[in-house]
Amino acid sequence: MDRPTWVCGDIDLTKPSTARVYDYYLGGSHNFAVDRRQARQAIALWPELPKIMQANRAFLRRAVRFCVARGVRQFLDVGSGIPTVGNVHEIAQRADPDCRVVYVDIDPIAVAHSRALLAESRAPRTATLQADLRKPEQILDDPGVRELLDFDEPVALLMVSALHFVSPNDNPAALLEQYAEVLVPGSPLVISHGTADGRPERATAHEELYHRTGTPIWMRPADEIAGFFAGFDMVDPGLVYLSQWRPESPDEEWERPERLSGYAGLGIRN
Ligand code: SAM
Repeated sequence: MDRPTWVCGDIDLTKPSTARVYDYYLGGSHNFAVDRRQARQAIALWPELPKIMQANRAFLRRAVRFCVARGVRQFLDVGSGIPTVGNVHEIAQRADPDCRVVYVDIDPIAVAHSRALLAESRAPRTATLQADLRKPEQILDDPGVRELLDFDEPVALLMVSALHFVSPNDNPAALLEQYAEVLVPGSPLVISHGTADGRPERATAHEELYHRTGTPIWMRPADEIAGFFAGFDMVDPGLVYLSQWRPESPDEEWERPERLSGYAGLGIRN
């Protein structure tokens, strides 16, 4: 198999990677036959998966543009995946080249690909950190993060399609409180999160699918996800299904938004 320049030598291309499978759902080019095989198996069980991922990514893009329009120039993207197909630094820096972005992911494959991609495209004012979002102090005290981001100014904290990988035992609400402590007023918190609200019949199938692929997922109801925004004022339209958060074109709207099985919201640190 030809090894593209963005793939570092220590990555095993014979095993599927969650990050590259996600890239496939998004229509990206950073995936291989082994990833596509796994993706097709998942799609056979849950045909709407690619559309759900694409709607999630579209929300991320809209939220980043919203933050830049509010004057926010710093982004901490936690659970970032591979920064491809409309990634945060491209969207933010297109609006203002001064924007600074730190990508954080626990997955060494996502991190290695991120570093290689950012180096190859010589992306300025960006950094990548391998860390576990369940250890906020490791991320917030990291010298590389502190070098690029100034926490005396607003920083947008992006937790997009990431918190449903955090188990109830790890208490996501308490983790978010730790992040919120270092954010100055005016800092946005952007969350999207899987839910079984609106499609309870699919809840077991969704969760079983993810548990089978080795990355368990915990769907949560609206009131629990809304609780993650403690200390933040929600901007309109509040916590809504992914496609309902400030859609910018009719293409982004869904007749049955609950079928996306995901909520989205943006709050501002008060
Ligand atoms: N945020 C991107 C988006 O919405 O397009 C990527 C979301 S992807 C579905 C979820 C990412 O969260 C994966 O790359 C996974 O490795 C990462 N992740 C899961 N658990 C994590 C943890 N405990 N700490 C950091 N990243 C985590």
